[in-house]
Amino acid sequence: MADMETLVSLCKRRGFIFQSSEIYGGLASSWDYGPLGVELRRNIRALWWRDVVQLRRDVVGLEAAILMHARVWQTSGHLERFTDPMVDCRECKRRFRADQLDEQPWTHYCPAKKDNKFVIPGAEPCKHCGARRALCPECGKGELTEPRQFNLMLKTFLGPVEDEAAVTYLRPETAQGMFVNFDNVLQAVRRKLPFGIAQVGKSFRNEITPGNFIFRTREFEQMEMEFFVNPLDTVDGQPADEYWHEFWIQERFAWYQRYGIRGENLRLREHPKEELSHYSKRTVDIEYRFPMGWSELEGIANRTDYDLKAHAAATGKSLTYYDEERKTHVVPYVVEPAGGVDRSLLAFLADAHHAEEVRGEKRVVLRFHPEIAPVKIAVLPLLRNREEIVREAWAIRDALARRWTAVYDDTAAIGRLYRRQDEVGTPYCVTVDVRTVGDLAKGEAGDRRVTIRDRDSMGQIRVPVVELEPVFAELLGGGAWSVVAARYPAQAAASG
Ligand SMILES: [Zn+2]
Ligand SMILES: [Zn+2]
Repeated sequence: MADMETLVSLCKRRGFIFQSSEIYGGLASSWDYGPLGVELRRNIRALWWRDVVQLRRDVVGLEAAILMHARVWQTSGHLERFTDPMVDCRECKRRFRADQLDEQPWTHYCPAKKDNKFVIPGAEPCKHCGARRALCPECGKGELTEPRQFNLMLKTFLGPVEDEAAVTYLRPETAQGMFVNFDNVLQAVRRKLPFGIAQVGKSFRNEITPGNFIFRTREFEQMEMEFFVNPLDTVDGQPADEYWHEFWIQERFAWYQRYGIRGENLRLREHPKEELSHYSKRTVDIEYRFPMGWSELEGIANRTDYDLKAHAAATGKSLTYYDEERKTHVVPYVVEPAGGVDRSLLAFLADAHHAEEVRGEKRVVLRFHPEIAPVKIAVLPLLRNREEIVREAWAIRDALARRWTAVYDDTAAIGRLYRRQDEVGTPYCVTVDVRTVGDLAKGEAGDRRVTIRDRDSMGQIRVPVVELEPVFAELLGGGAWSVVAARYPAQAAASG
């Protein structure tokens, strides 16, 4: 697998992801998505929405505001408990998570050696004097303060007066939007339990130690669904909340593989009791083998009735469901699959990245699943100074662009153009050449056929222009290249 540096560099060079405010020196842990990054994000969101909302009979959508009533965060427990222990260096003023101090390498000025500045791996003692880290790991000189609890919510002020009354927070999770709207949605759609409310949107956390590219950022986009179940029900002999929790763990685990992530790079991790959030009965993470190691990709929590009960108690409003069969009001339990657009994007990118050798040359290819790939089809003219070829290529690109993300490129020789599309993961290229359009001067008619080249096999076939749309509908709709290719004459690759 590619290391993070390779991915960061490819992302910048090819227009997936840029450092935020780069011309001002950049803003740490803040990233902007460029032309290809935007398409990739849109695809990830759209697939999640299709599979978690659109195709299901029991899930509906919501888009709540990022700014919510400040009391929401008091009720949810975020104001009091959404904290990390933090220490400051008295010398360099850097801030660290107290619970992660021993994981990071530390700077040491060794009394036993001349020329004595060393950087020692986390949790290891100095080889020369045996000392362990006691001071700031970064500057190696400053004393550290006692740990203090640092709230991770980003505070802001609403209205013209900056006083305590106007304080609110940028939401640290989208979930609360679903809880406070539970009754609104229930009244509007009249669903029977179980049913889900789903939302995709930005959340904010003032992380002390963000990092690892887009893995941990202070601004991020969540894809969350709250699945409300009747705690009095049983399914297959299990309490309904436990059944549906397991269902969504398996469903979400399968989802990543459905869109191309290899099973060997995914695993489930059960949270031990002492690690559980204050609202959770059981939480399981889906972890991905990121370039920096196994880390959380998505969490699936059983939040019980904690949130609905807390909001009902705080507001005096009833947040219950009337169980017709049992003639009683119940507070639903909630199962929450919570993933992220940014983390998913990093996982899809890392998993798709392959470097291989083709005829003595290095080929970098992103083997994106066709539905993930930011561009589906690139239309390339073999000769950019032949007007009929260029005109035909543009016409094909415009026609295909009505259904798929299609680009036109004529800025290099065909071999280079293919490599560039490989490097951004475009599944198919269409090449227009002299045979397609013919030669008017010589009185030769064109054959109205173009070459389609497959990214993964680099195989090429010759297909009539009028059949491009059905052929791509088949290929991009899950049809196998080998099946389609068998129906058309192969094209000897002049340039792979
Ligand atoms: Zn320091
Ligand atoms: Zn030492």
